[in-house]
Amino acid sequence: MKIAETVVEMRRLCRDLRSAKGLLALVPTMGALHEGHLSLARRARAECGAVAASIFVNPLQFGPNEDFSKYPRAFADDCARLEAEGVDILFAPGAAEMYPEGAVTKISVDGIGDRLDGASRPGHFTGVATVVAKLFHVTEPDRAYFGQKDAAQLAVLRQMVRDLNFGVEVVACPIVRDADRLALSSRNKYLSASDRQHALALHRALQAMEARLSGGERSSKTLVEEGTEVLRSEAGVRVDYVAAVDAQTLLPVERAEAGTLLAVAAWVGQTRLIDNVVAA
Ligand code: AMP
Repeated sequence: MKIAETVVEMRRLCRDLRSAKGLLALVPTMGALHEGHLSLARRARAECGAVAASIFVNPLQFGPNEDFSKYPRAFADDCARLEAEGVDILFAPGAAEMYPEGAVTKISVDGIGDRLDGASRPGHFTGVATVVAKLFHVTEPDRAYFGQKDAAQLAVLRQMVRDLNFGVEVVACPIVRDADRLALSSRNKYLSASDRQHALALHRALQAMEARLSGGERSSKTLVEEGTEVLRSEAGVRVDYVAAVDAQTLLPVERAEAGTLLAVAAWVGQTRLIDNVVAA
């Protein structure tokens, strides 16, 4: 696996590999890799001739009081794991390489970028869209692999790709969970043993909503109340949002149906976690 730390080097490596091996995949990450990330790399490897990944903890997508400085970093381990998955190129730039002094241009995905996590974390999706646009320009991938875990991010990025005519196909990969059904997340490293037990309420809330839906309940309001109740009744959990929304626009729906995105975000101690399911 070749490692590029500069934009110039990354662009050159990607162009060379793409012309040698055809279809180029990109798997953007913030590192501290787990099986969720690796599932994206594996799928990219299976579907494309060449695979590039990136590790960049993007300061622009963290709010001033968020966890940027303590976000887990595990670069040596991450490299070994990506190499084992057959990743060809890793882009691992420093912050000054991605945002040189004087850089002021940002990508704002209006409306949709302010929904769900965008409402709770003002500016978050502008940070995400800006860095992903830059990664797309540098890498020029044919396909980019993202996790359904970050369902709102996927919707925002799909909108950006449409609006800005990026020639990349966005591929969504299923959520990878631990045996106890907690969705894998780099932030799970922050959880104490008791936090982790509390955190299981996120998935339970989604299951309760799904069960009501498959039992014939269509009212989003009722489903959201159901999910909220499950989260509220768990000590140590503070609800951020419980939502039933259109998976493309992230706008609330009145009646839930197949394809509706059921999404939750909650604080477990100091850690904000998210999870979702798409209604069957
Ligand atoms: P992150 O490093 O958190 O920015 O995540 C990088 C990519 O991995 C994003 O596309 C995430 O949606 C995806 N991802 C994170 N956790 C999971 C998971 N549990 N299952 C599948 N994909 C995931």
